[in-house]
Amino acid sequence: MGFFRDHSMPIRKKFVAGNWKMNTTLAEAKALGAAVAKGVGTDSKVTVAVCPPYPWLSAVGDTIKGSSVVLGAQNVHFEKKGAFTGEVSPAMLLEAGCTYAIIGHSERRHILGERESVINHKVHTALEEGLHVILCMGETLSERERNLQERVFQRQVFAACAGLTDEQFHRIVIAYEPVWAIGTGKVATPEQAQDAHKFVRSKLKQLYGDKIAEATPIIYGGSVTPENTAGLMSQPDVDGALVGGASLKADSFLAIVKAAGVV
Ligand code: PEP
Repeated sequence: MGFFRDHSMPIRKKFVAGNWKMNTTLAEAKALGAAVAKGVGTDSKVTVAVCPPYPWLSAVGDTIKGSSVVLGAQNVHFEKKGAFTGEVSPAMLLEAGCTYAIIGHSERRHILGERESVINHKVHTALEEGLHVILCMGETLSERERNLQERVFQRQVFAACAGLTDEQFHRIVIAYEPVWAIGTGKVATPEQAQDAHKFVRSKLKQLYGDKIAEATPIIYGGSVTPENTAGLMSQPDVDGALVGGASLKADSFLAIVKAAGVV
């Protein structure tokens, strides 16, 4: 996460998370977790998180123990407990060993109809309960074609972060994920990613001031591969990657981690 050196601007540590989505058997998940932990080791220049499906969280958590890899969930419910059949609370995720929860992923916004008010509620509850949050946002292809992306980012940032305190915001990583790039093989250019991240950071400055905005990691997601990582990471406001498809193979995920660490 970000930290401050003297009174100058913060150095943001790169952050790479693997979103395994609804993939892997238990055996595959354990093997993948173990291989990522072995490759990352105990002293990584990059913060590395893996986000397996809910039922595999504890088992994958066991495979990464003793390494610097941390565990994340792909989703979380907006209430702390109660009659919410099929849902999983922040406290349950913490007990299963999670540090992070992904909130607002485009597949949940667009396939499962998750509204911005729900995302804001989830962010509040997750932070109140002690999780860190990977907050996803990004424009659709039709919004990009109409040059509406900045309007979309502004709406999504303001809606998701409404009412958060400065202290709570310190536990947020923003993931810019253009919907047209997720799982499509069409990656944003480094310049498109930089423009988006810079704009989002300018909105964070408006909400939380320069110091917090400069310390917040803003990572890119959408068809990240070992080949395109270095170009994306060379941009000043691109602080890491949220990786879907390429996180399902330890070799490609570790190559992305390595490329993120050398920039
Ligand atoms: C994602 O699901 O967050 C993602 C970025 O997927 P992919 O890397 O497969 O595009």
